[in-house]
Amino acid sequence: MRWLLLILCCIIGFGPIFIFSRATMTSVNNYFTANRQKELMRQANVIADQVSGSDFFTNEDNLEYFSEYLLDTSIQGGYRIMITDRTGMVIMDSNNSEKGKVYAIQEVIEALNNKSVANVQNNGNIYTAVPIMDYTSSEIIGSVLIFSSAADITDTVEVIRGLFSFILLGILICVGIAIFFISKIFVKPLKELQGVINRLTDGHLDSRVKETKVFRNEITDIGSAFNEMADKLEKIDDSRQIFVSNVSHELKTPLSSIKVLADSISTADDLPKEMYIEFLQDITNEVDRMSNIITDLLNLVRLDQKELPLKFEATDLNKFMSDIVKRLTPLANAKDIDITYEGKNVMAEIDSVKLSLAISNLVENAIKYTDEGKVTVTLDSDHQNAFITVADTGIGIPESEQNKIFDRFYRVDKTRDRQTGGTGLGLSITHSTVLMHNGSIKVLSKENEGSTFLVRIPLKHPYVLENDK
Ligand code: ADP
Repeated sequence: MRWLLLILCCIIGFGPIFIFSRATMTSVNNYFTANRQKELMRQANVIADQVSGSDFFTNEDNLEYFSEYLLDTSIQGGYRIMITDRTGMVIMDSNNSEKGKVYAIQEVIEALNNKSVANVQNNGNIYTAVPIMDYTSSEIIGSVLIFSSAADITDTVEVIRGLFSFILLGILICVGIAIFFISKIFVKPLKELQGVINRLTDGHLDSRVKETKVFRNEITDIGSAFNEMADKLEKIDDSRQIFVSNVSHELKTPLSSIKVLADSISTADDLPKEMYIEFLQDITNEVDRMSNIITDLLNLVRLDQKELPLKFEATDLNKFMSDIVKRLTPLANAKDIDITYEGKNVMAEIDSVKLSLAISNLVENAIKYTDEGKVTVTLDSDHQNAFITVADTGIGIPESEQNKIFDRFYRVDKTRDRQTGGTGLGLSITHSTVLMHNGSIKVLSKENEGSTFLVRIPLKHPYVLENDK
């Protein structure tokens, strides 16, 4: 990762610098060459003017004197000067080697055709040629040719290029080192995260990424988000373990009772028939209790299974509620409890099977935890929600326990619940079901005065709305 970052930065950062430096060097080279061409052209024109103003072509003395002058100029300027007549024959050559020969190169031909030219040859030399004009007849009488080597320009550009490359290399090394260390800041938390993931995979569920308050960035934020996720997973794992141990404990208690009862029957001699019946009745009660626990557990598991979504259907809530109350009225009557229902016509999109179980749990609890009192069930609504209340005048729930009663297997008074046959799972089922309806549930209670459970259920469920579209 670090190396990848380094290579990427080099490509992205130094690619353009490299191209820029090449382009700069080419421009510098062109600039120097163009300047040299201009200078040579100016020099050639000066010479051409001097030639045309003298009787150079006719006077031998003048030619000799002029040749010396041109030789000096050529030595000083560091270039070769040639003068040809109108046929292209060399009359004067500062190198003296071509004198008397016809020198018909492209530049000479063009100059004799009244064109001033300055060309850079493939070998890097600059050839400059200008015409010599006879001012009186306005005729071209010859040409001045200057050859100059561009080696000094190439040398200068090479020196600048070397300097440039040196500076570039320096920058490259400095920036490379900087990137290498800066990338550590980004790579370190990722490496740490990877290590923590590996430790978690190995089963060390308490492993966490070290969080930092300084230099916070998107990568360190990933670490914090990861820690949050790990906390939640650990909590889920803990609650699963607690759940399993609770289930084992809850099932073990009736099993122990059954064993004690069965042992008593098998070891006791001459037990009266009524005692047998009583013991067997107790065994049946314990088996019922286990059966209730298993039924509730199955209901909870089904609610937890996301692949079994609730079936939301538009339902007449008033009828739904009065059916529940009607079904449970005999249970209330058996305990001399006055049960009443008051509702209004409300239509809501609910899973009636699951919500019926949830609301029944509340009404059954109200009956179960009330002795000779009143249970009042009501249904109300606004334009968004239905509100169901189940109120009783029973034993109530101590304030310190009220936030725990929705936990699985939580019971306020364990001994009492063993008599009432409670499993501690009913409210947990109700809570999950209400949440799956996007609703909420609250309890208001005072010890020895009674409890009121308030349930809010949205009239429209987003799942149904989406399907209807
Ligand atoms: P259980 O099967 O024991 O009734 P629940 O989950 O339905 O389990 O209820 C959890 C605990 O909450 C009960 O054991 C009881 O102590 C308390 N509780 C629930 N409803 C009421 C109520 N209406 N009045 C008093 N206590 C209640």
